[in-house]
Amino acid sequence: MNLLEECKGAKRIGISGHIRPDGDCVGACMGLYLYLTKKMPGTQIKVFLEKPADVFRRISRIEELDSDYGDKERFDVFFALDAVPDRLGKAERYYREAHKKINIDHHISNPGSSGDVNYVFPKASSTSELIYRLIGMRELDRDIAQALYIGLIHDTGVFRYSNTSPETLRAAADLVSFGFDFSELIEETFYEKTYLQTQILGRALLESILFMHGRCVVSVLDRKTMNFYGASPHDLDGIVSQLREIAGVECAIFMYETGVLEYKVSMRSGGKVDVAAIASYFGGGGHKRAAGCSMNGTSHDVINNLSLHIERQLEEDGRQP
Ligand code: 5GP
Ligand code: MN
Repeated sequence: MNLLEECKGAKRIGISGHIRPDGDCVGACMGLYLYLTKKMPGTQIKVFLEKPADVFRRISRIEELDSDYGDKERFDVFFALDAVPDRLGKAERYYREAHKKINIDHHISNPGSSGDVNYVFPKASSTSELIYRLIGMRELDRDIAQALYIGLIHDTGVFRYSNTSPETLRAAADLVSFGFDFSELIEETFYEKTYLQTQILGRALLESILFMHGRCVVSVLDRKTMNFYGASPHDLDGIVSQLREIAGVECAIFMYETGVLEYKVSMRSGGKVDVAAIASYFGGGGHKRAAGCSMNGTSHDVINNLSLHIERQLEEDGRQP
């Protein structure tokens, strides 16, 4: 796919990513936005996202991002990044109504068919890596490189997860050659936590429960506790990965209450359990080792439903020679 060819003649271009945008989603959307606005002056280009976490303030022109979704007019080209259409939130309508829909993603749960053009590669570390590939090294600049680098570090856990490939590292090498302070960027956007985030992480770890003979761990945060700390969903990033680091744990579940008998579930796997398959079964999606979904019922219902699938997969794994 050639980005500029696909956008040729367009007067209005829109870009969006998934609800509760993470580093990859924000980095990919902003990277593409910075590139298209540079190459297509005079074209109306808009990027829509729910308000990203404050740590992403270092991304150039992030203040131009639209979180009001007030546009009524149809877009000639609309990009869905890092998401299936029903995870675009209020931007789903823009995508569905656009003259040309472009779907760029790396989630294994994305069937790669919602767009008029589909660029879906589940082996890629991140959507930001795909945007890097599509723009090409020669067309990058420092601001685009920094936005995409943020995406790379967030989806690979700073090049630690198994989705990191030689291509990912080559992309990272190209990106850092633009001279931004990558060390500070990693510290500020990935590791640094506010006091509130640290407290709620501590609380979630303290109240976690091991089950399935120590192969699974779960932690649940209810509305009351979230309100007590004044925590928003952004403040909960990283809790589930921390739970997964417990020795012996194959699958970690973290869930928080989003409404009456309604939970947002995050899962992480050490490799034996395919959490994307489980999340997809319950209407969500993600990757083999990192996935999520929304579920209804009491927290016990949710845990029981998930456990059944996890246990089945672990049993099958145990039977394999
Ligand atoms: P997290 O647990 O960090 O929210 O998400 C882990 C991965 O699963 C991410 O790649 C995220 O995009 C995906 N994911 C999380 N929740 C959902 C969901 O409800 N639906 C879909 N399709 N993907 C999700
Ligand atoms: Mn991603």
